[in-house]
This record gives sequence, structure tokens and C-alpha cells, in this order.
Amino acid sequence: MDTIIARIDPVHPDPDIIQRAGEVIRSGGIVAFPTETVYGLGGDALSADSAASIYAAKGRPSDNPLIVHIADMASLDRIVSGIPGPAYRLAEKFWPGPLTMIMHRSDAVPKATTGGLDTVAVRFPSDPVAAAFIKAAGGYVAAPSANLSGKPSPTSAKYVIQDMDGRVDMILCGDDSRIGLESTIVDLTEEHPVILRPGYVTLDMIRSVLPDAVIDGALISDDSDLHPKAPGMKYRHYAPKGQLVIVQGEPDRVVAYINERTDADSADGYRTGVIVPDSVLAMCRADVKFGTGDEGDSESCAHRLFDLLRRMDDESVDRIYAEGLSGGGLDDAIMNRLLKAAGHHTVNV
Ligand code: AMP
Ligand code: MG
Repeated sequence: MDTIIARIDPVHPDPDIIQRAGEVIRSGGIVAFPTETVYGLGGDALSADSAASIYAAKGRPSDNPLIVHIADMASLDRIVSGIPGPAYRLAEKFWPGPLTMIMHRSDAVPKATTGGLDTVAVRFPSDPVAAAFIKAAGGYVAAPSANLSGKPSPTSAKYVIQDMDGRVDMILCGDDSRIGLESTIVDLTEEHPVILRPGYVTLDMIRSVLPDAVIDGALISDDSDLHPKAPGMKYRHYAPKGQLVIVQGEPDRVVAYINERTDADSADGYRTGVIVPDSVLAMCRADVKFGTGDEGDSESCAHRLFDLLRRMDDESVDRIYAEGLSGGGLDDAIMNRLLKAAGHHTVNV
């Protein structure tokens, strides 16, 4: 397939390009587009065929549901059956933005889009390109992250092109994703609001609106008997090619341990990499060293993380060590992605 690759102004998107992208969606095609979280792989959310095309482009199992992206509140009515009160309250505070809400699906949404579920995940992104594109596409764009299944989510157009050139009809190339982690997912179909995936909107922020919100047990526990409610949680995710280990503990001991390991790995002929705060880089002896930003700057770490994992692949690193985070809030979302990327391989020092 020939893929149209279009540069687009991130703030004032060219209406002609947006129109063209919208037409691609309305005629059943697939368009990768920027959002404030990560790049998305969009198709018509109300078409079962388009959902199938998204799964095919991504190489994703089709029981993994897609998030439906909308561009105004009024669009909710058509796809949700019985919008719950808390949805309006969350929307008022966090939409447009990096929050996805799970509600009961209306018949307008095919089961192919929701992975067979009777619920639907909905997000209203704030990115100007995303908003204009969703409107031009007819108002309902189903989109997972625009990476091949199993790879880190793309936060820059470069990686979307790497994964999707030849697999989709069009790629809209905007800026690097401002946030860099996928949306927070909150399930509003249970007795209490349940966070199924942590993200930029933290538990405390949700609780400021809905004090009874909780975090999904399967998410916070290592107890693998608990069944994750968000189907995507069961797949290996975000993984770089190299083996990633998360090292937790006092900063000095973390560096000492990482140096010990990378020295040993080098002696065994492996190419080594580290992902640590900028201030620690000079103390590390690995072959490839990437900084997450200032110590404790979680926003910078979130913004850079997927890009750094991808760059480890570009650098053909075999063994990667990353410092664990434990500050709560956004750190929880970062650790959630790191743990998945590492296949839960952590060391406490
Ligand atoms: P992604 O498209 O990569 O941001 O991931 C979307 C994720 O949202 C899926 O993998 C699921 O984990 C979750 N999700 C989407 N729709 C639902 C739903 N109806 N119920 C529960 N989780 C959902
Ligand atoms: Mg994804």
C-alpha cells in the first residue's frame, strides 16, 4: 500500500490536509495522527471493517478493544447508552485531555471496535490536529497507539513512519507528543469509578472530582490470579528489543549496581544502555546513556520514556537498565509502562 506522508502544522493544521485525512477515514481507510498522549492509528469507529483494518495494520489481537476518539461532548450521546453523571463531572474537569472513560456501548458502536465488549472506551483529545481530524472524519475515530503491536508507543512521527509506512493510507506528521504516555483509563460502569490504566491524570486528580475512585486491584498487585479488567493489560507491551531491567533503591546504590551489571554484560560481549536522571549520566559506564531529565521531573521522564526505549533499539542495545520511580502520582503511570516494558523484571538494591 502507498502511504501518504503529510507534514502538518501542529497548531494551525492545513484544512486541505485535514479534509483529505477525513475523507480517507470516511471511505474506510486508516490514518495515523498526532495526539497529546501518543500518536494514534485511526479508523471509522462506527465501522466493523475499519476496526478490522486497524487490527491488521497494527498486528493486534482483535479481542483488544479500541478507544473511540470524539471532538465534542455532544458526540457522546450516539455511542454511549445512558451517560452516567460522573462522566459529565470528569469531562468538565479533564476533557479535552488525556483521560479515557469506559461506559456502556450503544448499538451504533460495532463489537468489532470494542473487542466484543458491551462497553466502550471514549476519549476527547485536546491536540488541535487530532480535534480537526476527528471532526473531518465524521466525529468518531477508533484509535490504538500507532505502533506495531508489542513495540513502544510512538511519540514522534519518525517512529510512526518506521512502523506504519506501507501499512496505512496516510500518516499526519505533527510535533512530538506533549505528554508521551497513553491516557488514564477510568471505568464508570462499576459501583465505584475504577482506574484501569494510570496516566497523566492521576488517582488524586480523579478523586478531586470523584472521591470514591479506586485503582484496579489487578493493576497494583503482582498477584497474577487477578484478572485485569482492561484487556490490553495482559499483553506484553512497550518492549524494546533489548532486555530491560528496572533497578529500585537509594540513588547511589542504583548507580553502583547498574555499573556492576553493565561491566559484567560488556565483558560478556553485550552492548549496554542506561536510562537514568540527567544528573547521574556522567557516573554511569554503559555504552549508551540516556537521561530522563532532572531528578524528580516526572513530566520530562513521561515525555521522553517511549522515545528513549525506541532509541535503545536504534542503538542495538542488548541490556538496558532503568532507575525505578516511587514518587506516586505520574510516577505510577511511568512505572506501569516501565514494568510492562521490562516484563516485570525488577531488582531492589
Ligand atoms: P491503546 O489503544 O493502546 O491506548 O489501548 C487501549 C486499551 O484500552 C485497551 O488495550 C484496553 O486495555 C483498554 N480498553 C479499551 N476499551 C475498553 C473497554 N471497553 N473496557 C476495558 N478496557 C478497555
Ligand atoms: Mg498501545
